[in-house]
Amino acid sequence: MKSVDTHLAEILATVRPLAPLELELEQALGATLAEELSSPVPLPPFDNSAMDGYAVRAEDVSEIPVRLPVIDDVAAGSVELRAVGPGHAVRIMTGAPMPAGADAVVPVEWTDGGTVSVLIDRPVEVGNAVRRAGEDVQAGEVVLKPGTVIGPAQLGIIAGVGRRRVLARPRPRVVVISTGAELVEPGAPLAHGQIWDSNSFTLTAAVREAGAEGFRAGSVGDDPAVLLDQLDTHLVRADAIITSGGVSMGAYEPVKEALSPLGTVRFEKVAMQPGMPQGFGVLGEDRVPIFALPGNPVSSFVSFMLFVRPALDKMRGLPSEVLETVTARVTRPLRSPAGRRSFLRGVLASDGTISPVHGQGSHQLAALALANALIVVPEDVTEIAEGTAVEVIRL
Ligand code: AMP
Ligand code: MG
Repeated sequence: MKSVDTHLAEILATVRPLAPLELELEQALGATLAEELSSPVPLPPFDNSAMDGYAVRAEDVSEIPVRLPVIDDVAAGSVELRAVGPGHAVRIMTGAPMPAGADAVVPVEWTDGGTVSVLIDRPVEVGNAVRRAGEDVQAGEVVLKPGTVIGPAQLGIIAGVGRRRVLARPRPRVVVISTGAELVEPGAPLAHGQIWDSNSFTLTAAVREAGAEGFRAGSVGDDPAVLLDQLDTHLVRADAIITSGGVSMGAYEPVKEALSPLGTVRFEKVAMQPGMPQGFGVLGEDRVPIFALPGNPVSSFVSFMLFVRPALDKMRGLPSEVLETVTARVTRPLRSPAGRRSFLRGVLASDGTISPVHGQGSHQLAALALANALIVVPEDVTEIAEGTAVEVIRL
């Protein structure tokens, strides 16, 4: 059997970062910046007021209280400004440009709020409540480095330096296909022998949580020809494909039957539990990666976390680091098969303990839904006593 680490290493050696594209701001959320972003101008571009108040010469407000005539009124966006001469004040709003001559802003709270003249009852220091040009960013300064994931704040600075488009690796488009003649869409009635398709929802959601775009293609039954047809349709728009089911040793294994003859997808046993049967390879001229995950719901989810998620990171141009683990003490004794790495479902508590959930079968979806972590049991460990420290992957 192939080890978990070898399987992951082969996947990571195959998948490539997506090519960068010029993305519109509206499409850039979640993409990975592929250029060094700098500002063409200083930000703020001009000295402006940080508060609503009065622009003055600080030296005129050293003896208080003092009453000054208000000679102008400037709002944010004002362009024609009168200079502030000695003994004058200008009413000014937040974001409005500082008039020439003024060197400080007296907040409105320190005054009587007058519009013809203003009574100021606190002294002010030079530079008070003034935002200097370039205080945030100098002209030409780098504001974001390549490899940065574009979140809301990063989108803000891209727009803030005046860019409409940015060079970035888009979020990978991942198509999720379920196989299984027994599957029925949730919401539709079940006949005997049928179950509701849950994997396609779990996997599509997991894709989205991993920062990619998930498209749920639904189920193709157990017909290899229908699967090939679906793959044909989706390959044009997919950066990766995930299938669930149809990769084990039985009959009616449509994924294995459809893809084995192509010679570009390998079906193997990986030394893990759950999730032993795994398929991985590439499809079509564009060599689109395909992850053929096992059908049991817990197996497909664990396989996603171990293999697909790091691959998606790499496609996004991010480091595909080994899944982070924390150490916790098990509250119950555990068993694990020899020669396979187990990923048991558990509830990690704030006191540093982890309680395995009841129901460790790879079909036990409800138990998975109660868990918030996976307990990793190494290949050579078969029994773990209560209180032993174990490695845990948070979900
Ligand atoms: P398979 O890998 O196709 O042999 O499926 C293994 C087990 O997982 C079977 O019990 C299937 O009914 C179940 N299964 C397969 N696909 C799904 C799915 N999309 N949703 C829920 N269970 C599934
Ligand atoms: Mg099946």
